[in-house]
Amino acid sequence: MGILAAASELLELSTKLHKLIPPRTGEVDRTMELREERFRRLLRFARENSPFYKERLRGIDVDTCALADLPTLNKPQMMANLDDIFTDRTLRRSDIEAFIADHANIGVYFKGKYALCHTSGSQGQPALVVQDKHAIITSFAAQFARGNKVRRKFLPHIGRLVNPARMVIITQRPGFYPSSTFFNYFPRVARPYLKLQRMSVFDPIEEIVQRLNDFQPTFITGYTSSLEYLAREQEAGRLKLREGGKLEQMNSMSEPLPPPVAERIENAFGVHVTNSYSMAECMALSCGCPVCRGSHLNSDLAILEVVDANNNPVPNGTPGSKVLLTNLYNFVQPIIRYEIDDMVTISPRPCTCGNVLPLIESVGGRAKDQLWVEINGRSRDLPIYVFLAALDNETDLAEHQILQTGVNTFVLRAAAQSGKQLSPERLHNYIKQSLASEGLGGVINLEIELVDRILPDKAGKVSRAKNLIGPPSDQPPENSKASSRVIA
Ligand SMILES: [Zn+2]
Repeated sequence: MGILAAASELLELSTKLHKLIPPRTGEVDRTMELREERFRRLLRFARENSPFYKERLRGIDVDTCALADLPTLNKPQMMANLDDIFTDRTLRRSDIEAFIADHANIGVYFKGKYALCHTSGSQGQPALVVQDKHAIITSFAAQFARGNKVRRKFLPHIGRLVNPARMVIITQRPGFYPSSTFFNYFPRVARPYLKLQRMSVFDPIEEIVQRLNDFQPTFITGYTSSLEYLAREQEAGRLKLREGGKLEQMNSMSEPLPPPVAERIENAFGVHVTNSYSMAECMALSCGCPVCRGSHLNSDLAILEVVDANNNPVPNGTPGSKVLLTNLYNFVQPIIRYEIDDMVTISPRPCTCGNVLPLIESVGGRAKDQLWVEINGRSRDLPIYVFLAALDNETDLAEHQILQTGVNTFVLRAAAQSGKQLSPERLHNYIKQSLASEGLGGVINLEIELVDRILPDKAGKVSRAKNLIGPPSDQPPENSKASSRVIA
């Protein structure tokens, strides 16, 4: 990279960092103004440069329309029309697929300017997302300016050059999935400020422990299941990060962070676990709150509508059945009112940390993995905590997974820590007690399956809950949620 290009990247990063300092009371209007400006600019740009949106926005006054006047977009629609969605008319889905098929291209900008990623496909077909360098810099700036402790010492603080933040990312092996690709495109100019080590959940645990002990990171980011795995290693005394005294913060991503799990990780390491909610389609959607369990929505960079199955907004404090995402900073592949099956709850109260951006209080498991029980002919959600709380009593446990295999029938897969043995009867008793205290005594048929290890799925994640039978029949089936709106 030439000196001029590096200087302009550095200038862009520092300007964005400055602009993204979290708004405090009295600055909300400015955030909403920015959101409105970017929203209108996005709509105009999409209509002028994308054949798909030109058709879609026909007859809509993009300068005055309400958000609800715009059609929604689901993933199959986006993927079927990808070439026409791109505003750079030279982009072709087939070229992108060929590029990412070659792992030698990891971290390489496509056509010299585009960062590429694909979603895991664990939620149906994978989606491809293309963004330019500006969008990548925006995502990093948001991450460092908001909601994590590293930010206060980050750019342009000269001290970080002498004493760079030490970050570990534990995801999976390198690839084009979002959590990997994001850090592969980490701006070169910012590298002196951050020492980065990457680890994979597929690496042997002894190796991970050794590397962590040697590196003594200030910041660890990973899937909830990986952080939980590390917490067990710390509890067992093999991992020594608490002793090193360098660790400042951990960040959980990509998987829900149930309160008992967060507490366990925090107790093990003595640092706060932030919880960030984002996705390939919008990496800068939110930043984990440094004080509470929630994540602050970056309202100037994205619009997140929490809606019911019919796309009607639900009030704050109530979980929606899905969200509609509008990304305000990716102009290459405009994503407008894009449907995602996440059950998000926005907090009705201001956050105690002082950041006035809306707080995403919780993100429920994808609807398809929600567990449920039937009592007196009526179905109700079964929170996974009834199992998790019970399993906290079992200190020899290394990994676990709950499968719903039938109506009121569940299987607990459990793996013992190395050198330890689990007793199925004891596990069964713990859960029986927990269920009884929730008023569910005698309702559930539970089988215990002891295994050596619960392997992560293709995406490197271990789901704590898997529903193999789908939602109950007295609830709307999953596919009725997808928009059936015909593309105009
Ligand atoms: Zn907060």
